[in-house]
Amino acid sequence: MRLYLPSFLCFLALACSSRIDVKQFPAACVFVGDPRLENPASLPRVELQLIDTGWNNTPEAFLFQGGRWFTSRQLTFPAVLVRHPSGWLLIDTGLGPDIDQQFDEQMPWTLKPFMGYEKGPDVRSALQNAGIDSSVVKHIVLTHLHWDHAGGLESFPQAEVWFPKTGLEQAVARADEEAGYFGDQFDAETIRWRSPEFSDGPYENFSSSFDFYGDGSIVLVPMPGHTAGSLGLFVNLPSGERYLFSGDTTWSVEGFQRPCHKFWLSSWLVDADSDSMEYPIVQVHQLMKRYPALHVVPTHDAVAQMRLPHLQKKAD
Ligand SMILES: [Zn+2]
Repeated sequence: MRLYLPSFLCFLALACSSRIDVKQFPAACVFVGDPRLENPASLPRVELQLIDTGWNNTPEAFLFQGGRWFTSRQLTFPAVLVRHPSGWLLIDTGLGPDIDQQFDEQMPWTLKPFMGYEKGPDVRSALQNAGIDSSVVKHIVLTHLHWDHAGGLESFPQAEVWFPKTGLEQAVARADEEAGYFGDQFDAETIRWRSPEFSDGPYENFSSSFDFYGDGSIVLVPMPGHTAGSLGLFVNLPSGERYLFSGDTTWSVEGFQRPCHKFWLSSWLVDADSDSMEYPIVQVHQLMKRYPALHVVPTHDAVAQMRLPHLQKKAD
C-alpha cells in the first residue's frame, strides 16, 4: 500500500492539471475580423454595468485543473446590464427572488454542499434600488439556462428572452433529471422566447454568429458543451474596449489561458458534454493570444469582473 499511495497521488496530481492540446484544433486559429471595429468610435454608445445577485467562496482548485487547494477564490452570480440606444439588454439574470425555496426543494442534497451561495438582491430589486424601472429591459440573452443564470427571468415579462431553441427544448426535457436546471424558473407560458439563428457568418474564430442589433456592438456566438445551446457574447464599446462574456464554459479566466477544463469533479457535476467544450475553450484561448486587450469574463470569475462598473444604489 505504501508503494502504491505515492504513485496514486502523482497520478491524481497529473490528472488534475492536464491541459487541452491546442494543436488538435487548427481551425481555432483562423480569424475573420469585423471591419467595423477598425473605427470603434462609430459604434453605438453602449454602457455595461454588473449586477451581483450572490457570492460564494471556493478553493481555486475547483475552478480549473491545476488550481491551488489552499487559495480561496470568490465566485459571483451576476447579471450584466447592457445599455444600448436601441433597447436595454440583460446578459443572464443570476439568482432570482425565489432562489432559497427553489434551492431547498430542487437541488439534490448530495450537491448542496458544492453549490451554496450567499444571496444578494435579485436583478429586478437591484434595478429598483438604482432608481431604474425594470420595464426598460427589452431583451434578455441567456448564456444558458442553469439555475444560477435563469433565476430572475420571470421578473421581466415584457422582455424578449433569447436562447437557442434546441437548447431550450433540452433544458425543458431534462429539467426534472439534471441538477443544473430548476424548471419552474423558465416554465411560464408568458415568456417571449426568441431563438438566435447564428446566420451572420464567421466572426473572429467562430464559424457562425448573430449580430444582435445589426451594428457590430453585440455579437452572439455558439459555445456548446456546458449545456446544449450555451452561447457567448462579444460586446464592443465605442471606446475600443471589447468584452467576451463566456458563460460557464470555464469558471475562471485561467481555464482559457492554460487552456484546461474545470477540476474533474466540478466538470462531472455541471458540464453536459465536456469533450465538446474543448473546441470553444481553445477558441477563446486563441482569441486571447490574438487580442491581449480583450476582456474575457466567465460568469462566475470575480477577478475577471473587477474591471467592470457595478450598478450602484441610488443615493437617498
Ligand atoms: Zn453558472
